[in-house]
Amino acid sequence: MARVGGDEFVLVLSDHYRVSTVISLLERVLNEIRRPVTLAGREFQICASLGVAMFPDDGEDAQTLLKHADIAMYAAKKRGRNTFQFFIHDLNRVADERLNLEAAMRIALERDEFSLHYQPKVDASYRIVGVEALARWTHHELGVIGPDRFIAVAEESGLIMPLTLAILRQAFNAARAWNEGRAVPLLIAVNLSPLLFLGDDVVERVAAVLDEAGLPASQVELEITETVFLGDGTRAVSILAEFKALGFRLAMDDFGTGYSSLSYLRRFPLDIIKIDRSLVTGLEQEEEVAMIARAAISLGKSLHKTVVAEGVENLPQFDYLRRYGCDEFQGYLLSRPLPAEQLTALLEGGGTIEL
Ligand code: C2E
Ligand code: MG
Ligand code: MG
Repeated sequence: MARVGGDEFVLVLSDHYRVSTVISLLERVLNEIRRPVTLAGREFQICASLGVAMFPDDGEDAQTLLKHADIAMYAAKKRGRNTFQFFIHDLNRVADERLNLEAAMRIALERDEFSLHYQPKVDASYRIVGVEALARWTHHELGVIGPDRFIAVAEESGLIMPLTLAILRQAFNAARAWNEGRAVPLLIAVNLSPLLFLGDDVVERVAAVLDEAGLPASQVELEITETVFLGDGTRAVSILAEFKALGFRLAMDDFGTGYSSLSYLRRFPLDIIKIDRSLVTGLEQEEEVAMIARAAISLGKSLHKTVVAEGVENLPQFDYLRRYGCDEFQGYLLSRPLPAEQLTALLEGGGTIEL
């Protein structure tokens, strides 16, 4: 057994194992790792993702075997962690795609190929009060690649920080232009990957981009997801407190989808909760969805948060959410995410959405 770096370990089984023997061994390893450990009176649980490459089918030398075990390990991670995955040749193709995408992304960053679309958020009388910046990547060969795909690649390859800074630069500059001459400033919402919270200097870097753009922090909403708080969340709390102290507004994105406890609503300095699309889709048809959406709104309101619903696609959903006290609305009913020029036109036309 050897540690090959960071949190990666290699286990070499040198006998002529059969697959079934390997599987029972891996299960023993996972069970052993899963056993809770107590640190300073609190229980912690570790999980692991295992990738397996078998000699000689998956490689005839150590280098190939390690590479294939690594690819299998990524696949195990994707499948939800605390599990194992044997290497299969199809995984190679997936890994190649990931590497290609990563290489293309480095070039795209250099060439400034990422753009932003802006989706309006409106209040109960359809007035645009803010916009969410959503990243877009049009690759000259692959076409449009969605954020769900390239953000994950950026996270895995360490490109998430430079990508985020490039996105923020664009978003902040656009917001400054829109807000020149507006009596009530438009709030610009940007998404921050939970991985950024692991680094040392996310606050300084975001603040530097903001300074450069000459935008007040009070006009910016930072959208984060619950995964930021995984673990004990102490670090996340102090980073969020720093953002807050600089004047940023903090939003919990995708509220109602995560696994963590509700106690973070009390512990963290949040201003806004964004109710996830899954609690909006179908609420006009399913009583249970409607009840959960209502409970989420009422929870947010009693904690004095601004409550935003995302993924509002039809009028019955809008009316229901408005009736139960939702403050702001975002979704295809009101507007799709738009290129900057189209949003400018919408604002110049009065800044109210006509249905
Ligand atoms: P999100 O932050 O929850 O953004 C909302 C997503 O829902 C957007 O997808 C938006 O286009 C889509 N949407 C809005 N209204 C509707 C609707 O009425 N119906 C339906 N079906 N969908 C709607 P998009 O742009 O593909 O972004 C997906 C996710 O990618 C975002 O989810 C966000 O988590 C992530 N993302 C986007 N841009 C960035 C970024 O700049 N940085 C980071 N870290 N993540 C980003
Ligand atoms: Mg968001
Ligand atoms: Mg969301």
